[in-house]
Amino acid sequence: MIIAVDGPAASGKGTIAKALARHYRLPHLDTGLLYRAVGATVARLELDPTKEADAVAACDFDELTLADPALRDDDMGKLASIVSAHPLVRAALLQRQKRFAHQEGGAVLDGRDIGTVIAPDAQAKLFVRATPTIRARRRHNELLSRGSTASFDQVLGDIRARDQRDSSRAAAPLVPASDAALLDTSFLSIEASIEKAIALVEARRGG
Ligand code: C5P
Repeated sequence: MIIAVDGPAASGKGTIAKALARHYRLPHLDTGLLYRAVGATVARLELDPTKEADAVAACDFDELTLADPALRDDDMGKLASIVSAHPLVRAALLQRQKRFAHQEGGAVLDGRDIGTVIAPDAQAKLFVRATPTIRARRRHNELLSRGSTASFDQVLGDIRARDQRDSSRAAAPLVPASDAALLDTSFLSIEASIEKAIALVEARRGG
């Protein structure tokens, strides 16, 4: 079974995807990390993320980059969202994600375009969302716990800017697949969100 989990930053999609992978004993791929690795490599090589050719040159990143905890930082999320708007960057990462999704036994992938582009044939598609203010609060708390001094307003501004960039780009914009089940986590605990996600997947499997 392929499970596609899409949604904007800090919607809870990563936590939900990991929990679904554990529940169904499936391998999991956080596809945002691939774009973050491209962004980090652009920065390391002092290239220009807004130039498609520069970003494409960084798609051949060192696999060790994927394990770097600094990839989780907000400035990496921003760089990822800039490089991910280039169609040739998306094309360079496409086969790797499709292969992962279609491996024997199935997989769980989370990102922005899993249900629409990477695995339109996924048996279960979830689109996870929450209001920008709630997502910003979650992200702000997470950043504070990691010692950051970013203000709430800064984090909210970044979230809105990233939503805008991800939703308005021409290549694989952030939109729910027409057959995705919507899961709004704004007023749900992590446990309740996971429970609901499992129930939605079960409903899709007809179980
Ligand atoms: O999910 P995460 O916040 O790690 O993703 C970082 C950025 O990578 C997103 O803002 C988005 O621009 C891009 N991305 C994408 N397609 C995906 C996953 C991430 O465009 N499948």
